Amino acid sequence: MNRTDIYVSIDFDGTITEKDITDAIIQRFARPGWEEAERLWEEGKIGSKECLSAQIALVDAPLADIIEYVDSFSIDAGFKDFIRFLMRSNIRFGIISDGFDVFIKRILTNEGISGIPVYANRLYVENGSLKTSYPYASRNCSSGVCKAEVAATLGDGSPVIHVGDGRSDFCISERASLVYSKGKLTGFCRENGIPHIEFTRFGEIRKSVAELISSPSPAREHALTAPFFNEAW
Ligand SMILES: [Mg+2]
Ligand SMILES: [Zn+2]
Repeated sequence: MNRTDIYVSIDFDGTITEKDITDAIIQRFARPGWEEAERLWEEGKIGSKECLSAQIALVDAPLADIIEYVDSFSIDAGFKDFIRFLMRSNIRFGIISDGFDVFIKRILTNEGISGIPVYANRLYVENGSLKTSYPYASRNCSSGVCKAEVAATLGDGSPVIHVGDGRSDFCISERASLVYSKGKLTGFCRENGIPHIEFTRFGEIRKSVAELISSPSPAREHALTAPFFNEAW
C-alpha cells in the first residue's frame, strides 16, 4: 500500500501529549504578567508569536531546569504505533507544532523516538536569557508556526490530513482535506463545517486512516484526492 499522495500533519501539545506542555511551562516558570498575554491571545487580539515572545520574556529559569520539568510529561501510548503504521504505508508525515522544538525533541527522545521530522518554534539561550525565533512563521498569519503554509510546502500541494486539538490548528484545519480533532478544535470544525473525526487516542486514528486508504468510500476518496490549497501561496 502506497499513499505518497497524502501528507499527515500532527500537532504536539495536547495531541501527542495529554497536557499542553507549553502552557504548563509558562504557568510554572513565568513571572506574573503572562496571564495578560494569554488573555489577549485567547480573545484573538494577538497571535501566538506575540504571545509566546511576551511570555518567554517573563521566564528567568535556566533552560536545564525547564527541560527537567518537561521530563515529567509522557505521550499517548498509541503514538509510536501510529508512526510505524504511517512509515509502513509510505505516508508522509511530520509534527507541526506551535510549541518549542527543544521540548518536543526532549520528550520524543525520552520515549525512544528518533528521526521524526519536527517543525516548531525555536527556544535558545543568548547572553544568559531565553530567546525565541520563528523559522516557520508566515507573513500572512499571526501564529509562531503557520501550520497551513508548512504543510502546503512539505506536502507539495497533496491532500493534508491534520491531527490536532486547539487554536494553533485552526488555520490548517480550514484547508485540510480531513481533520482528526479533539478539544477546542472539534468545536471549531463543527462551527465551520470542516470535515472532521473526533478522537481521543492515536489507536483510533490508526484504524481510521487504515480504513480510509484501503477501502475509500466516495466521501473518503474526497479526503484523499482534494488538493491542499493554501491561499497564501
Ligand atoms: Mg495542541
Ligand atoms: Zn497560519
